[in-house]
Amino acid sequence: MNKKQALYLGFGSNIGDSGHFVTRAIKEVAGNPHISYVSQSSLWYTEPLYDTNQPHFVNAVAKYHSDLDPYEILDYIQLIETRFLRLRNPLRPKGPRTLDIDILFYGDHCIQTDKLTIPHPRFHERKFILFPMAEIDVNYRVPGTLMSITDYIQRCPDKTNLEKI
Ligand code: ADP
Ligand code: MG
Repeated sequence: MNKKQALYLGFGSNIGDSGHFVTRAIKEVAGNPHISYVSQSSLWYTEPLYDTNQPHFVNAVAKYHSDLDPYEILDYIQLIETRFLRLRNPLRPKGPRTLDIDILFYGDHCIQTDKLTIPHPRFHERKFILFPMAEIDVNYRVPGTLMSITDYIQRCPDKTNLEKI
């Protein structure tokens, strides 16, 4: 049995009842017997960052403990995305979605493969990840670096608007 490690997941939605989807999905993740809920951020109402011609998002971060392998976590969160009718449009990879769940950080894992990168490769350029992370663990030190979430917020180039709901 692997040891329990802190798992931080990022949630986002901009189709349908997004606040409700994110809130429900945070609970559903903890339906796995190997994932236990610890805490969550506020919901944030955020301006789209990459593909900007789409509705605002609702984003949040939740913290769990888990002893699963990182790839098992990826499979499981993709199953939950599918339950929320997440459809992928290959022509618009950063387009609207009912639910996106990303693995942000997992214990001290540092992984870089085609299928999975942990820490999440774009966490540092997204206020919609950094601000909710700061609500949960402001002094969190990012694995593989000497920097905290606060340090990353100070260096973040993201100029989009976001507000707590
Ligand atoms: P995005 O989250 O970048 O908007 P998707 O949710 O469609 O896009 O994810 C695309 C692929 O990214 C997934 O199929 C998964 O294999 C890969 N991926 C790589 N690293 C991660 C991660 N840390 N969390 C979630 N998915 C990841
Ligand atoms: Mg994703």
